[in-house]
Amino acid sequence: MNAPQLDHQFADAFPELVHAAHAEEQPDPQLIVLNEPLARELGLDPDWLRSPEGLRFLLGLGGNRTVAMGYAGHQFGQFSPRLGDGRALLLGEIDGRDLHAKGTGPTVFSRGGDGRGALGPMLREYLVSEAMHALGVPTTRGLAVISTGRRIMRTGAVPGAVLVRTAASHLRIGTVQYARITDTGDLTERLCTYARQRHYPDRNTHEEFFTAVMDAQIATVAQWMRLGFIHGVMNTDNTTLSGETIDYGPCAFLDHYDPATFFSSIDTHGRYAFRNQPVILGWNLARLAEALIPLIEVETAQELMNSFPDRWERAQAAELARTLGTDDPAVGERWTSMLEEHSPDLTDTHRLLNDDPAALPGGDWTGLNPMEHPFHIPRNHLVDAALRAAEAGDLAPFHTLLAVVTDPFTDHGAEFRGPAPEEFNELFRTFCGT
Ligand code: AMP
Ligand code: MG
Repeated sequence: MNAPQLDHQFADAFPELVHAAHAEEQPDPQLIVLNEPLARELGLDPDWLRSPEGLRFLLGLGGNRTVAMGYAGHQFGQFSPRLGDGRALLLGEIDGRDLHAKGTGPTVFSRGGDGRGALGPMLREYLVSEAMHALGVPTTRGLAVISTGRRIMRTGAVPGAVLVRTAASHLRIGTVQYARITDTGDLTERLCTYARQRHYPDRNTHEEFFTAVMDAQIATVAQWMRLGFIHGVMNTDNTTLSGETIDYGPCAFLDHYDPATFFSSIDTHGRYAFRNQPVILGWNLARLAEALIPLIEVETAQELMNSFPDRWERAQAAELARTLGTDDPAVGERWTSMLEEHSPDLTDTHRLLNDDPAALPGGDWTGLNPMEHPFHIPRNHLVDAALRAAEAGDLAPFHTLLAVVTDPFTDHGAEFRGPAPEEFNELFRTFCGT
């Protein structure tokens, strides 16, 4: 097979939003994991991707045009006008999806960072994004992780790696913010038209575009809330226009139900705690609405934002109705109170609705018609153990766990179910910017 032809529609259409950038050569690239089904879906030959030329293609070294995308963003509430791909490259589009490599070396957006990725976090993103996909949540996908043969400095020296992922696009609220503050003509308008036509082709106006982004994000975050997923860095640069979940740095799952839970070591005030995620989504969407003014009139933007709480309530009620198999609000309230009172393991408790509702605490839960709930999520203690082993050179636990979490509706055994041991959560803190 010859190197596949990638499209460069975004880079061609928006020279203002990209910088030509080149991947660095890697001392000893080794393919750690390849998503063969996804490769085939994209029309890529897995055998070719495993070849030396295939690896160079994935690493952004195949001679294709590569760019770093510019974006701004509110990080923990503070606006940074210039973030951008500081350690990643857009390789191009394939089959309408972005192909993107992360950990490929410094770009003009690196701001002093080394532009690299560590093996643990790159494997974490691959595993959790593929688990989310299997759970039915809109997300970027992991195509491959390649160790680079380089040791990089983090809290100590750790193995370096590149993650290759696909996304409906890498356009973020932060991309619109960047366009707005650098706009000297019609940049923001062209960007929004492009994003609308790419992601919401049945919508016709900027107002409809904003509403579509709002509804797509609400649908995604409503699923996070059902599954106990905590993103951990819901900055506007990590909130996509497509609605896909993106950037799995410090993400983690709840086990015992506690809405105040947060894990990220850099989120010291719990801004992105589990229960805050809907409010933060609304806050991020308000930043998008602001960036769209005057494409959308101020009053209209305000009205659209005012519809957020009702839209959220409806989505959350629908998710709860699916969870329980009834839209009776009294049952929903009783369920939520039960979770708050007993703090059971959220995933196991949902699964009991399918398998043994009589064993659930807090009353009679029989006779409902719940959705099929997963047996498995990427539990923090299991992910942690698999990544530690991988960093020490043993990939077997990673591959075992990957097989489990990408087939979550089959019971793979008690060792992959149940909450973390008590000691684990006390110590567990995930890290960002790794
Ligand atoms: P993230 O936490 O991956 O969403 O990244 C937030 C911002 O920091 C983005 O602009 C990244 O490109 C940048 N960044 C993160 N890690 C690095 C790194 N090692 N070198 C350069 N830039 C980085
Ligand atoms: Mg990011």
